[in-house]
Amino acid sequence: MEEINVKGRSLNDLAALCHSIAKEKGFWDEKRNIGEALMLIVTELAEGMEAYRKQDQENFKEELADTFIRLLDLCGGLNIDIEEEIHKKCLKNKNRPYKHGKIC
Ligand SMILES: [Mg+2]
Repeated sequence: MEEINVKGRSLNDLAALCHSIAKEKGFWDEKRNIGEALMLIVTELAEGMEAYRKQDQENFKEELADTFIRLLDLCGGLNIDIEEEIHKKCLKNKNRPYKHGKIC
């Protein structure tokens, strides 16, 4: 089995890695349906919910990893600089009012 080092790598690096693996396995041979790709990410979260309900901690962690892998693959495939997008959104969130101004 080929070894892959992921610890300590940046999100953009991981996006490139996840995307290269998905491409290598043929998941980008045809034009991707972006709606379907988004729903497959949701599916991984649903699998995580099922693992949580079954109190299967190992599977729960694996499904969270699947979620990130699919999301990062999509970022890589769409050439999205996810670090920059997270940076911009965190700045926006940081400057919002407490509970975003909602009373309840
Ligand atoms: Mg899964």
